[in-house]
Amino acid sequence: MSIYNFSAGPAVLPQPVIAQIQAELPSFQDSGMSILEISHRSNLFEQVLHDAEQDLRDLLTIPDNYHVLFFQGGGTLQFTAAPLNLARHHRIGLLDSGHWAQRAAAEAERVGTKVHVLASGAETNFKQLPILARPVDQNLDYVHLTTNNTIEGTMTTALPNTGRVPLAADMSSNFLGESYQVSDFGLIFAGAQKNLGPAGLTIVIVRDDLIGHVDNLPSMLDYQLFAAKNSMFNTPPVFAIYAAGLVLKWLKQQGGLDTMVARNHAKAALLYDFLDQSRLFTNPVKTSDRSTMNVPFITGNTDLDNQVIQDAQEHGLVNLKGHRLVGGMRASLYNAMPLAGVQALVDYLDNFEAHHR
Ligand SMILES: *Cc1c(COP(=O)(O)O)cnc(C)c1O
Repeated sequence: MSIYNFSAGPAVLPQPVIAQIQAELPSFQDSGMSILEISHRSNLFEQVLHDAEQDLRDLLTIPDNYHVLFFQGGGTLQFTAAPLNLARHHRIGLLDSGHWAQRAAAEAERVGTKVHVLASGAETNFKQLPILARPVDQNLDYVHLTTNNTIEGTMTTALPNTGRVPLAADMSSNFLGESYQVSDFGLIFAGAQKNLGPAGLTIVIVRDDLIGHVDNLPSMLDYQLFAAKNSMFNTPPVFAIYAAGLVLKWLKQQGGLDTMVARNHAKAALLYDFLDQSRLFTNPVKTSDRSTMNVPFITGNTDLDNQVIQDAQEHGLVNLKGHRLVGGMRASLYNAMPLAGVQALVDYLDNFEAHHR
């Protein structure tokens, strides 16, 4: 039986990448050592790091005035790093789109940043995205935006107009899964384990004029220092960078971002179309704000939801349990989830519905 893994993260990786990791694990590049054992200062790893950055630059057409940095600490550490590096006047704006935006706000406040909530989706229980009603105060250091809300299942494609104030985007759950222009942002960050690679690596893409203005930052949070040291201030997460690098090469082989985005839209449409005609399952999100990456859905009956999740697992459709904050089911359809997996899910749900009405 084939297994389809709908986990929100750490999440499914491309099968050819897993096979390659397995094949070259005992001896990386005929060195007689595994990637787990080589020095981060070796030529072997320097090439891995260089390729990963270059492939990322190619895939996202990253302009030359942006740094690409490799951090640890997950998306969560960037909730602290972003205000420390960029909020020189200790004032940021926030689009409150749910759980992860609120977590970012809380961490920014912990380091003395005043967070102005510019708009919130709270009135709709985050079933739709916050809408900016007024012009943005041009004295804010940046506006924090979560491009894809992993728990609520909403996604931003039309960016808010913030005038001269840079946008700082938490792209953790749709990085390389939806297309954005890097030049529309001052800062982009994303934990790798949703749509790029294993846990332990976080990508930071930052415009060079925005960094280097704050002295004496903790070294491990200092964008300027990481840029100067080529992300090698200390030992970087060698294996995670290597594995993410293989995923980047796989993305290029697939045809790059346009191909992936088109596939992701087709996968999401298949599932949403099913949910919209279903008389048992519903997705609560406003149609125009729906995520192509994370699709929450419910029956309206908790016992029945649990039965769906349990029974799906027996059919090889695993990790469909919704986030504990919202319950129900959630199917994550990241780049490495094939259309066949989504079709198997739809067939399964259709069959379940036929037997439970
Ligand atoms: C998962 C997630 C995070 C937190 O990521 P960690 O790597 O666990 O710190 C932050 N933001 C979003 C949108 C996420 O989906």
